[in-house]
Amino acid sequence: QDAIAFLKQQIRTVPDWPEPGVQFRDITPLLANPRAFRVLIDQFVHRYFDSRPDVVAGLDARGFIIGSVLAYELNIGFVPIRKKGKLPFTTVQETYELEYGSATVEMHTDAVKPGDRVLLIDDLIATGGTMLAGKRLLERLGATVIEGAVIVDLPELGGSAKIREQGLPVFALVDFQ
Ligand code: 5GP
Repeated sequence: QDAIAFLKQQIRTVPDWPEPGVQFRDITPLLANPRAFRVLIDQFVHRYFDSRPDVVAGLDARGFIIGSVLAYELNIGFVPIRKKGKLPFTTVQETYELEYGSATVEMHTDAVKPGDRVLLIDDLIATGGTMLAGKRLLERLGATVIEGAVIVDLPELGGSAKIREQGLPVFALVDFQ
């Protein structure tokens, strides 16, 4: 638990960003600190070493940073789930609602194979919309999502509870109230 407290200390809270009233949890100091970055990745490696997924799918964009290092350490592949318009090959798309408007994420149709056991990873869960859209994409391609992993959960926003209700276990290292 010391490791978790140490990690939590490295996350910076930026008030009123990107808009008034939002407390943005900024993980860049954690990534910039070599000891913290290693502790962070080791936490995920230990959790998934034995259950070894087939693939890590990372959510755009901070999910790429931790997801790719984790995939490398587990000796498995990494696939990106990107915001609309970035992927060159054939894609599947999922749109989800935001507070104002909507967002679309997409994946290459050949990024995972039917039956693949996939770990879905991002830096943070707020409303849960992003991770649920990723789950739907992976399931449309026939994959099984074994868990949704994040550094930070904001449980008061209800996102992680919603994701669990949809049948996906959630693993978060740090909670912020
Ligand atoms: P959700 O879809 O759960 O509402 O929002 C989660 C997505 O928005 C994640 O991809 C995450 O990177 C980003 N996000 C929303 N709020 C924050 C925040 O306070 N800090 C960080 N680092 N990311 C956030």
